[in-house]
Amino acid sequence: MLRNLPLYAKILIGMLLGLIFGFLIVIFGIQHFATDYIKPFGTIFLNLLKLIAMPLIFASLVSGISGLSDVSRLSKLGIKTISLYIVTTIIAVSIGLVLVSLIRPGSYVNEAKRVELLEKYSFDLAKRQQAAEGITQQSPLQFLVDIVPENVVSAASSNTSMLQVIFFAILFGVALILVPNSKVTAVKDFISGLNDVILKIVDIVMLFAPFGVFALMVSLLVDFVGTDLGSSAQLFASLGLYALTVVMGLILIIALVYPTFLWIYTKVSFKRFYRAIFPAQLVAFSTSSSAATLPVTMEQVEKELKVPNEISSFVLPVGVTINMDGTSLYQAVATVFIAEVFGIELTLVQLLTILITATLASIGSAGVPGAGIVMLIIVLNSVGLPVEGLALILAIDRPLDMLRTTVNVTGDAMIATVVAKSEGKLIEN
Ligand code: ASP
Repeated sequence: MLRNLPLYAKILIGMLLGLIFGFLIVIFGIQHFATDYIKPFGTIFLNLLKLIAMPLIFASLVSGISGLSDVSRLSKLGIKTISLYIVTTIIAVSIGLVLVSLIRPGSYVNEAKRVELLEKYSFDLAKRQQAAEGITQQSPLQFLVDIVPENVVSAASSNTSMLQVIFFAILFGVALILVPNSKVTAVKDFISGLNDVILKIVDIVMLFAPFGVFALMVSLLVDFVGTDLGSSAQLFASLGLYALTVVMGLILIIALVYPTFLWIYTKVSFKRFYRAIFPAQLVAFSTSSSAATLPVTMEQVEKELKVPNEISSFVLPVGVTINMDGTSLYQAVATVFIAEVFGIELTLVQLLTILITATLASIGSAGVPGAGIVMLIIVLNSVGLPVEGLALILAIDRPLDMLRTTVNVTGDAMIATVVAKSEGKLIEN
């Protein structure tokens, strides 16, 4: 019977069983069992997803671009996609700013809790600070330099260099259009065959998804709760309102902003969209990585939402690297929260600065776990807030990362659908 269930149901069952098992393991105190025998399967699943991300981007982007008849269509597609991504990010940051100003979660954290959190997490903080230091010393145009790789093989060897691989794939695809067809038919056929092979690998990997998600959930829960269920519960209570503000913002994006975009620009119903994208959301939630989720997002968007490969192969990988609505909202909420806990009143100009830097910082965040909190340091710096404030929110960053990644991935899929429609390439039912 289980065999005939749709993929999302199987993944959901894996996730729920993972949560139940995780709790039982903590209650019975057999965490080492989870670390030794369950966690490795989660890591294998994650590796499989990461393994196919780069070849998938390359093959599918090149075959998508070479299917376009002329280069000007590509630049139109690029401008449209990036503009939509920036608009949704600005909306997300604004929602975050409004919510955090109304709820004021920082005013509920007392002096004693503040000192405790700052002490407990300052070690972890040093690591993140180091990571961000390199970034803050760079030229403002460094992001442009970073897009162009000096060596394509080394770019393809790191999942954080997605934009570099996208750049090379676009260059390759454009050149393929410009060279006379008779000379490159073999190359085009090869790439299109390669693309089919990689999509088949995605299908195979997805068979393992319910088990992978199960293992990831067990190890996440065990890592997060540690050995002391009571103190984790306490922590949640003191940071609960902050977390709730982020979660409310994320729900607003999912339940209001995205459906509105879909409603204005397409005829795809809310229900159909979310049913199609649900497996990708579950994988995003359990991996906290939109980059690792890309193969699943692409598969769902193409198969279920009927967005053609020539659109999704461009819009989705670009989205994974630059479009992070969940992350940008979280960065805005976290910044204002930290200011409030430190008793610092923010001016209107500072709030506007947060709007701009959170938008840029989310663009600069890679689609990997914890990237958002590193880039948050830049937002804090921009308004002169103490970076130590990060220690306040580190404790519950992982669950929030899971949720914001889910939103990030959903945003990419929504824009892919809207762009496909605007290009007249969407089969809507
Ligand atoms: N984990 C997020 C993502 O992959 C980025 C972040 O907010 O940390 O989309």
